[in-house]
Amino acid sequence: MKIILMGPPGAGKGTQGNWISNYLNIPKVSSGDLFREHQNNKTELGQLASSYMQKGKLVPDKITVAMVMEWIDNNKQSEGFVLDGYPRTLPQAEALDIALNNNGLGNVDKAINVDVPTEVLISRLSGRLVCTNCNQIYNIKYAPPKNDRVCDNCTKQLQIRDDDKIEAIQKRIQVYFESTAPLISYYESTNILVEIDGSNSISVVTEELKSILSN
Ligand code: AMP
Repeated sequence: MKIILMGPPGAGKGTQGNWISNYLNIPKVSSGDLFREHQNNKTELGQLASSYMQKGKLVPDKITVAMVMEWIDNNKQSEGFVLDGYPRTLPQAEALDIALNNNGLGNVDKAINVDVPTEVLISRLSGRLVCTNCNQIYNIKYAPPKNDRVCDNCTKQLQIRDDDKIEAIQKRIQVYFESTAPLISYYESTNILVEIDGSNSISVVTEELKSILSN
């Protein structure tokens, strides 16, 4: 099963993507996490990406496509994958289709679009905490960690992402509607688009996904 998770920042793609990955036993990657890994390792790519990420802008397609295609190449033996936050532009979607076909991996099976109203996104993103080690996501209001600022899973420090500051949040939501929303018609045209309401609680969204994935 090759699954794409689409939706604005704060829609819950990371949380639900982790669940799908465990449920179907397939690897999940978030392009944002790959960029943050490069930043932490202080690679040239990480430094280049930082300037875009801090402003809430998209990293240019050429860099993003190369990075995600490398991940797909390294994971092509698995029974599928979940992509969280990729593709975000039409050229990225086309590059993905070409790479899958060139590798004999077939087509994307489902493009799941998680829809959430803007005011809910802002409220979620401004309370988000992320584990610096395992990328587990928490929210101060909706899904707090058991101990203040410490990950329940691995006990490492939690932090607020640089781009979860209000100016960057607003820019990221705007960028989503300009660049990423057009992808919805791209996947609609190939009949693999599934729309879900991401404003519900985590467990309700997970139940909906379960029924989608078992069809
Ligand atoms: P995310 O963790 O998905 O919210 O992504 C954080 C930031 O990483 C975004 O605001 C972009 O700057 C960058 N980024 C992540 N995925 C992509 C992508 N597919 N294309 C371009 N930029 C991306």
